Amino acid sequence: MGYVFAFDHKHKKPPMSLKDLLGGKGANLAEMTSVLALPVPPGFTISTKACQDYLSSGWPEGLTGEISRHCALLEKTIGKRLGDLAEPLLVSVRSGAKYSMPGMMDSVLNLGLNDKSVEGLASQTDDERFALDTYRRFIAMYGRIVMGVDASHFERLLDIAKDWDGVSNDAEISVDTLRRLVRRSKEVVESASGLPFPQDPTEQLRGAVEAVFHSWDSPRALVYRNREGIDHNLGTAVNVQAMVFGNRDEQSGTGVGFTRNPSTGEAVAYGDVLINAQGEDVVSGIRNTEPIAVLSEKFPLVHKELIKTFRRLECHYRDMCDVEFTIEQGKLWILQTRAGKRTGLAALRIAIDLTRDRAIKLTRSEAVQRITPEHLDALLHPQFGSDESRTVLTTGLGASPGAAVGQVYFSAEAVEDAVTRGERAILVRNETSPEDIHGMAVAEGVLTARGGLVSHAAVVARGWGKPAVCGAEALLITGSSFSVGDVVVSEGEVISLDGTTGEVFFGARSFIVQEAPPELATILSWADKIRGKRVQIRANADTAADALRARGFGAEGIGLCRTEHMFLGEDRLPIVRAMILAETAHEETQALEALYDAQKADFLEILEAMNGLPVNVRLLDPPLHEFLPDIEELIVKEATVGLSRDEVNLLRAARAWHEVNPMLGTRGVRLGVIKPGLYAMQVRALVAAARERLMAKGKPIIEIMIPLTVSREELALARGWVEEAIVEAATDVASRLVISIGTMIETPRAALMADELGEVADFFSFGTNDLTQMTFGFSRDDIEGRIMGPYLGMALLDDNPFETIDVQGVGELVRLACDRGRSSNPDLKLGICGEHGGDPTSIGFFVGAGLDYVSCSPFRVPIARLSVAQCLIAEDNLIS
Ligand code: PEP
Ligand code: MG
Repeated sequence: MGYVFAFDHKHKKPPMSLKDLLGGKGANLAEMTSVLALPVPPGFTISTKACQDYLSSGWPEGLTGEISRHCALLEKTIGKRLGDLAEPLLVSVRSGAKYSMPGMMDSVLNLGLNDKSVEGLASQTDDERFALDTYRRFIAMYGRIVMGVDASHFERLLDIAKDWDGVSNDAEISVDTLRRLVRRSKEVVESASGLPFPQDPTEQLRGAVEAVFHSWDSPRALVYRNREGIDHNLGTAVNVQAMVFGNRDEQSGTGVGFTRNPSTGEAVAYGDVLINAQGEDVVSGIRNTEPIAVLSEKFPLVHKELIKTFRRLECHYRDMCDVEFTIEQGKLWILQTRAGKRTGLAALRIAIDLTRDRAIKLTRSEAVQRITPEHLDALLHPQFGSDESRTVLTTGLGASPGAAVGQVYFSAEAVEDAVTRGERAILVRNETSPEDIHGMAVAEGVLTARGGLVSHAAVVARGWGKPAVCGAEALLITGSSFSVGDVVVSEGEVISLDGTTGEVFFGARSFIVQEAPPELATILSWADKIRGKRVQIRANADTAADALRARGFGAEGIGLCRTEHMFLGEDRLPIVRAMILAETAHEETQALEALYDAQKADFLEILEAMNGLPVNVRLLDPPLHEFLPDIEELIVKEATVGLSRDEVNLLRAARAWHEVNPMLGTRGVRLGVIKPGLYAMQVRALVAAARERLMAKGKPIIEIMIPLTVSREELALARGWVEEAIVEAATDVASRLVISIGTMIETPRAALMADELGEVADFFSFGTNDLTQMTFGFSRDDIEGRIMGPYLGMALLDDNPFETIDVQGVGELVRLACDRGRSSNPDLKLGICGEHGGDPTSIGFFVGAGLDYVSCSPFRVPIARLSVAQCLIAEDNLIS
């Protein structure tokens, strides 16, 4: 197979399905030319394969010959020749990868002009000014992109030219000055690059094609692909196309249109035009554009043809399209089309409308597939306006989506005080701990300098739907200010956070909060119908308020209630500490009883909120460091203002319990083993609450989950305590209570020993946060700060495994544990409750692994409903 394909090449398949080979732009140009017979300026596409071969082993053999054959064909079709003295053909050379990478790669326009053909263009158009202006633009563009000359040289020349003529607008520069500008531009190219500006169009073309190939690996393209998860090996196609000019005269123009309104989804053509202008004038925003509707007055026939073309494109692609067009002396040309980018609201409306459109008849499955997680994110969380340009102060991890604006404060207490005064506050910390929870609860957003996507701050913020940026390494916090490089932001100053992109801005940005439109419920109900009973969606929720919210979002149960989070309130933390640090049995029993009352009240509310749906309660799993007082802070206090008696005791106990690796220390079931009575107390509280719900004619369904087990013996021991406590708390109603007992699978050993664990478990829930931490040996709190960036940058990892499940390693353990667990217990229920439960790509893996449910934060529930349905559609399509 060759490397080059004319737009009208007869492919065996519809060209629009050949994006792998032709790139998105090339595939659509071929489709519009060969299938739809639209007025597309002719041209050809150099395939992505040519780019791949070029980048791996240099200019491919045979490519030169193919390009020159296609150039000759193009010249024949148009009846003009490249470099011709009388009537030159000019071409554009544009990048076009399989996936759209807007503005990330290079393009060269007006190629083919030289000192001779510029005269040809002048006489052909009878417009010397136009020809010279086109030539000077070409020299600057080619010089910058192909020959590496800094753009500022050309900008300076243009400024000098305007000064020379005493004008302020490019369009007013005189012909004589333009002639000098052309000469000076060529001189600049030669002195800056050491090479003369090439006069031979064949040489120009080769240079432009190579530059586009290289731009695939430009730093900005690499960053973009990393962020969008686009394969670095795909390469870009190059489209060489005859130029048409929207800047010929007042009968010409250029524009970009959408077949429907991309903001609201309204079924009305939408877009901008500029009369007597080239595409780059629209993009650069120098001149104000006019709405597309003005064409109906100025060019009624063109307008009619354009609207008809929009409809044809929409019916053909069965989607809203984005169309670039040019009018050259009254003739309409279509330059490009693709599925149009749209807001979340427009995506929902368009998908639903297209199911009702008789010519398009989108199916409901197709409609569900048209919605992306990003569309839902944008509807569920406040968003910054996209048109505002702002300088980014620093970037961390987008840990919890949404936009937040507020004054910065550096402690939870200061945040609380500020909010009481009526301010909007953002909590800025190195990292958060349970002690900060009261500040996080009232803050607009959270910014941390350290910690990753499953750090305390990230998990809590996501659970509450609060925007958070974590691990912003460049942030240096010193007392009541923070700095990023030279910029210092003091307490009380305003910043804006984008928890979706991880960007932090100085000052207040405006943002939009949207009500979920009714179309959201329609699409999600279609998604639920597709999902049926195959995979349940649950939520991770620790309070009744979270549970109610999750239910509102469509959760079918709670997959993880972290009981330690119930103890994070200021009034409760001291009791948990007292329990952990108790030195006598009496002290411990006292603390446990105090906890019993608090727990029972919380459980009652949660069971009521989730009446009739399963509630999975995890017994206490505190990595101790999250609950102990900060030793350093106490030491400082001791040395400065002194400690109270309680604090002296606390410091002593905290030192005694201090562990070097708390994440691998006294946590999970291990804490239960050394604190006999702890789990029994929790189960008694839960069962007593369930009993009360039963008496009130409620329908409690409970699952009791033991964390961090690694062996059958350990789980059997814990199960024994649980069963005893159930009998103790509810003998009279034991037979009427629906209770199952199971464990988390959070360590590689637990996964490997799943057959043994399955013998004593009714269910497994994969704790993929810890499982990832322990499988990689990557500390979930530290690794994303220093290591993850370089690892992703150097492609040592494809994705951050705390964000998207590592299918080969961690995923293999999940699959193996499912098989082994079910081999010893065929009725074993399987779920996942790590943060991956809300990640669409990971959800695809879990659905494929045959899990019964995925559990995620309440705000991710709609996304999980959509993603599971999309996976099942894809699976069904594969089978049929
Ligand atoms: C997990 O480890 O995946 C999990 C859900 O537990 P936690 O994040 O509370 O450790
Ligand atoms: Mg865990």
